[in-house]
Amino acid sequence: MKVKDAVKGLEEMYPLDLREEWDHPGLALGNLEGECKKICFALDPTIEVAKEAAEWGADLLVTHHPLFFRAVHLLPSTDPHGRAASILLRAGCALWVGHTNVDAAPRGTNEALCARLGLLEALPIESKGLVGGAPAGLGRVGELEHEMNLEEFAKMSLEELPKTVQGVKLAGDPKMRVKRVAVMSGAGDGFFEQALESEADVFLTSDLRHHPALDFMQRLEALGRKMGLVDVSHFSSESPWFDFALEDAEKKFEGRAQLRLLERNTDPWAEAFI
Ligand SMILES: [Zn+2]
Repeated sequence: MKVKDAVKGLEEMYPLDLREEWDHPGLALGNLEGECKKICFALDPTIEVAKEAAEWGADLLVTHHPLFFRAVHLLPSTDPHGRAASILLRAGCALWVGHTNVDAAPRGTNEALCARLGLLEALPIESKGLVGGAPAGLGRVGELEHEMNLEEFAKMSLEELPKTVQGVKLAGDPKMRVKRVAVMSGAGDGFFEQALESEADVFLTSDLRHHPALDFMQRLEALGRKMGLVDVSHFSSESPWFDFALEDAEKKFEGRAQLRLLERNTDPWAEAFI
């Protein structure tokens, strides 16, 4: 098949109109008419990931994070993104980015996170309607099959999610009962209010900063509301998506392309000391 066939398939799985307004997923680099026999997947289009894709002879690299988060005017190879782009282009490897459209899509990052945590009947926190009859939207809220306490839930999350050096942190009463769980893959501190409204016992997300987390815990106290927060690494919250992505791409492309997950851990931290 051609790159355009792969892009069409990916955009049927993860429609671009599910994206957030500020986001620009889709084909970032490459030739739609190019041959596409090898497709690899990674979370971030880093220089090392680009090299690995090029060495494998990939025709298309699929990443969750964009090469650029904002408009650029210069793309020299001294810039990391410019360097990654030139490695991919020289190798004839296209780049397709599935970002907030993948967060919202059925079997995207949020649903994959729910699957790892064993959440049942999870529905989007912020609905974007249906895609192929399945609910789409950001975040998910669902129920654990068996109630547990917050500490047990945090430890279970550590066990079930891809490992990074950050581990898992919790805020709230470690002994409080947890049954209903809200999740937001990626950086979720802009979704505290929606998590609160979802009536979850705990909100699991990543990249929680001091002030938003502290303010939220204080707000819960002022409201007389018991709720826990679980902070996992950004990488841990989004990488479970590859469980679904490779399985679904295999079905979609029916052997027309060889698929591979580049297993490079692109979490930026190398060590943590506590
Ligand atoms: Zn992310």
